[in-house]
Amino acid sequence: MQAITVAPRVPASIRLEDVPEPAASDGALLVEALALGVCGTDIEILEGHHGAAPEGCERLVLGHESLGRVLEAPPGSGFAPGERVVGVVRRPDPAPCAACGGGEWDMCLNGQYTERGIKGRDGYGAQRFRLEPDFAVKVDAALGIAGVLLEPASVLAKAWDHIERIGHRTRTWSPQCVLVTGAGPVGLLAALMTAQRGYALHVFDRVAEGPKPNLVRDLGGTYHAGELAVLADLAPDVVIECTGAAPIVIGMMQQTARNAIVCLTGLSSIGRTVQLDAGALNRTLVLENDVVFGSVNANRGHYELAAEALARADRAWLERLITRRVPLARWREAFERRPGDVKTIIDFGAAF
Ligand code: BGC
Repeated sequence: MQAITVAPRVPASIRLEDVPEPAASDGALLVEALALGVCGTDIEILEGHHGAAPEGCERLVLGHESLGRVLEAPPGSGFAPGERVVGVVRRPDPAPCAACGGGEWDMCLNGQYTERGIKGRDGYGAQRFRLEPDFAVKVDAALGIAGVLLEPASVLAKAWDHIERIGHRTRTWSPQCVLVTGAGPVGLLAALMTAQRGYALHVFDRVAEGPKPNLVRDLGGTYHAGELAVLADLAPDVVIECTGAAPIVIGMMQQTARNAIVCLTGLSSIGRTVQLDAGALNRTLVLENDVVFGSVNANRGHYELAAEALARADRAWLERLITRRVPLARWREAFERRPGDVKTIIDFGAAF
């Protein structure tokens, strides 16, 4: 079968190649790939900045945003052939730490977790892959191709879960204004989940053109384009930061309402310095009871919350997030960044 593989830490080593069928040790469910989402983490891996091959291997099957159809499922597994599934990305560390042992592998304490297609475990960018039933999440077939958005949506379901837990430190928590910075797929899914909660939604992005402004307006949100200064009077109660751009991250920490929560979800590149009055920032955080926290990955409960959120969303809106659908034969194009891109997916060509 064919798979997209890469030698992690070796730039430009990505290729489509023939690989053996997935090992039975990968899990009891055999799954046929329907679609694979491409995200910033994949680009980081193929540029050689991130990722690790499975132990003893040089290459890694890339891909962690899956959508597949079960081909084989043993009786009693809870799955049946024909069902649509998405694979969970992270696997608990072998120890396991207290968090992984309790099913909260997204909060792994020792960093020895593995991630399919990212860290130490082959991913889902292959015509067929296997899943352990505990790490497979059923997706409603009615979602169609938008089922491929479940993994990125799980990351935002976790972000919102943690924002709400922090928010409830005050009995009267009722955010009046939620700002999402960055209108890529992660930001737009954050925006969707904000709109679903009925909060006043604002989204900030560099670009004023392309599909993003209308995607935000169709959620009932306000779209702000340009420089951070356009947000000077907004004073959000919650910020979901999805750009990872250092000036925006630092800037937004200082432009919130009192008792604000800033959730950081974007990975920044290392080595960029930003001028900062650290004392002034500390004073603001202390005097305003602000919380700034990071959020990564998702556990099974978050995938389930995400599945509910996608099921409640307007399917046509979700499909508009998928701005390019590249056939496997032209896979290379999926890793190019083009103007107007929101989410690019690779279509494995299996009948839908
Ligand atoms: C994935 C997460 C993963 C993170 C770090 C993201 O792109 O969505 O599941 O934990 O990368 O590797």
